[in-house]
Amino acid sequence: AETGKAPARQQDAHPAFDVNAVRRDFPILQERVNGKQLVWFDNAATTHKPQAVIDRLAYFYAHENSNIHRAAHELAARATDAYEGARNKVTRFIGASSPEEIILVRGATEAINLVAKTWGVQNVGAGDEIVVSNLEHHANIVPWQQLAAQVGAKLRVIPVDDSGQILLEEYRKLLNDKTKIVAVTQVSNALGTVTPIKEIVALAHSVGAKALVDGAQSVPHMRVNVQQLEADFFVFSGHKIFGPTGIGVVYGKRDILEHMQPWQGGGNMIADVTFERTIYQGPPNRFEAGTGNIADAVGLGAALDYVDRIGIDNIGKYEHDLLAYATQGLLTIPGIRLIGTAADKASVASFVLKGYTTEEVGKALNREGIAVRTGHHCAQPILRRFGVETTVRPSLAFYNTCEEVDRMISVVYRLATAGR
Ligand code: PLP
Repeated sequence: AETGKAPARQQDAHPAFDVNAVRRDFPILQERVNGKQLVWFDNAATTHKPQAVIDRLAYFYAHENSNIHRAAHELAARATDAYEGARNKVTRFIGASSPEEIILVRGATEAINLVAKTWGVQNVGAGDEIVVSNLEHHANIVPWQQLAAQVGAKLRVIPVDDSGQILLEEYRKLLNDKTKIVAVTQVSNALGTVTPIKEIVALAHSVGAKALVDGAQSVPHMRVNVQQLEADFFVFSGHKIFGPTGIGVVYGKRDILEHMQPWQGGGNMIADVTFERTIYQGPPNRFEAGTGNIADAVGLGAALDYVDRIGIDNIGKYEHDLLAYATQGLLTIPGIRLIGTAADKASVASFVLKGYTTEEVGKALNREGIAVRTGHHCAQPILRRFGVETTVRPSLAFYNTCEEVDRMISVVYRLATAGR
């Protein structure tokens, strides 16, 4: 970058992690966009898929494809084994105690809706309170708002400080014996803030409330153990952790899931049906009505295997240094304002540039083959907290490099110093 203040390139400081080898696992990184090699800095929106995931999906359709659980034939057994194998991998990956605690759904959005529309409707009543934070993605706001409207409950919001970190003292004041559930993200998709989620869960429990952790932006970047967090519910999306779209996860503590009513009704989720009544299966099948997204669940299992092979701790360390490198570089650009400066952040460096709309910055980057998200990132309340409607949001993954960061910074630097 022309800025000249960049620290030593951090990728050389990670002998356990070879970014060039990793990049060869992701065929799309070789794409050219506007004549330039693609730089993918839109990982918070979705991530790319390693060849291992692409191959696993093809193998499923070529050798295993069948509906599951329902037939005596060989392919049904293969498909069922592959699907349940994926559930086992998810169980291990997030440290759940049993695969019966893992419900496979379409994504984090469906996951939160499932909890709000089942556990929520059963357990939240008129005058009760639901707590979310100012940082939440719309997926962790709207279902709770809908629940509150349906049952006559109240939505309360934990504020953040000027760095974009949750104010624990203010949170403490919101809690009382009417609080039924606290739903908070582990990592903010708009700012990258890593929240003190273990304390947030513990404080929820101290007033007898349940805690749902939105892990959509945390599982790709850090080790997660739901039992250590003591989360009652934990949700994430496959496509943000190098797996396919259309597959996601609800983790729920077993004793909670056992008392939860189903959401949708149909095949797969029943033990016995007459016209007078239906007896449901236990969890997780009770919550998986109809034919699920079998192939993509299997693809998610392959993605988690891939992440395990690279090592989530190696990934976290490498990305931490890459984000520091990007942040320092961005801060050398005249007229830049970083939105979200918490001490603990993952992946995301949101910013606005004086004299330009965020869309103009995004288009200038796209002309150079660099993909960033510009917009409100489905998190309007937190952007408005900082007085902006949109930001430019580069979001990093472990296949990104310092050279790519340099390319981005030099484009933004050129814009900033071009004058107009
Ligand atoms: N929660 C967070 C923090 C997110 O970043 C996202 C996606 O951007 C979601 C929930 C919703 O995920 P999905 O769109 O995959 O359902």
